[in-house]
Amino acid sequence: MNRYLMTPGPVPVSTEVSRSQAKPLIGHRGGEFSSMFLSIEDKLARLLKSGGRTVLFPASGTGALEALAANFTGPDVKVLSVSCGVFGDRFREITALYGADIVNVDAALGEGVTPEMVAEAVERNPDCGVLFLTQNETSTGVLNPIDRIIAAIPKEKRPLILVDGVSSVGAMPCFPEEWGIDGLATASQKGLLTPPGLGLVWLSERGWKTVKERKCQSYYFDLERQRKVLDKDAPENPYTPPVSLYYALDEALDEILIDGWFDLRRRAARSLAAGIESLGFSLLVKDKNFRSPGVTAFSLPSGDIPAVSKALKAFGVEPAGGQADLKGKIIRMSHYHDVRWPEISLALGSLYAALGSNRAGCGDFMKEAFEAWEGE
Ligand SMILES: *Cc1c(COP(=O)(O)O)cnc(C)c1O
Repeated sequence: MNRYLMTPGPVPVSTEVSRSQAKPLIGHRGGEFSSMFLSIEDKLARLLKSGGRTVLFPASGTGALEALAANFTGPDVKVLSVSCGVFGDRFREITALYGADIVNVDAALGEGVTPEMVAEAVERNPDCGVLFLTQNETSTGVLNPIDRIIAAIPKEKRPLILVDGVSSVGAMPCFPEEWGIDGLATASQKGLLTPPGLGLVWLSERGWKTVKERKCQSYYFDLERQRKVLDKDAPENPYTPPVSLYYALDEALDEILIDGWFDLRRRAARSLAAGIESLGFSLLVKDKNFRSPGVTAFSLPSGDIPAVSKALKAFGVEPAGGQADLKGKIIRMSHYHDVRWPEISLALGSLYAALGSNRAGCGDFMKEAFEAWEGE
């Protein structure tokens, strides 16, 4: 039986990406490794529209978040932590572990963070030196407007802005330099269409200056130590890097850096959402403007979500469930990879069948979804 992985991380990777990992290993001290590293950096620079340096850690997204916390926070720092779900909360927990004093700002599950909310909180807490934001909250499928949020904070009052881009980078615009982000964390296994295992950290000039002046609370995640080897003529990693994952990332970036990639992700999200609603499910994110191009979450008001999930699994279709307070209440389907109309119709057709006795409430879901796919 074919299996269709629809979890929001890991996401399916292409045959080319899988195959690239089977290439013979090369040593990580030497020109060949450096040129591959530079090729990855160059592609990331195009994706992020920034020439800034990116550090690659052998870690998952949580490791990249911890790197930001270890380098930018501590008992001497007050942090404004904005959360609208599980991952915003996680960033907060990591920071608490590093001893930071934390001010919480929360949006309800399924709702997004508005520029007004954050601008007001910054205004009220001028002693906060760091602001934490999540671009795409994967637990609910919310996309926060990071560019507009930052723009709403007067430049001279901006704390250091650290962003969890673990489930956004690669699938939607994320332009840290243009937007005014100081530290961006992401990972390989979601929008970057690479197997799990790489955590990426990008810093602004202000970010690099700050890490130079602060003592990092971690040895392995010390960004200043990383910077020193990046600045060599032949940049490298201070410790042994997962070379095969670098091969995969280098390959996967070529698949993302095509014209119209972000539009395709938005189209897939729009079409899937239209079909899902027409099937009788209820989208968790009510406001269209906050819906993620990478993952869609939905519940079944009149029915049993665990039963639908179970039926999907029996077909070989594997989405994710809810986390924390949403456990057992929602299904999350991802569309980070090259999901187009055939994959959408497969997901919707499978959902229809999985509805069982709840099928009575279904509308003309294929028509609705296809019109949304074709529409603007
Ligand atoms: C997946 C995810 C994480 C955690 O990443 P891991 O790779 O599982 O450690 C953090 N933040 C967001 C927004 C995520 O989607």
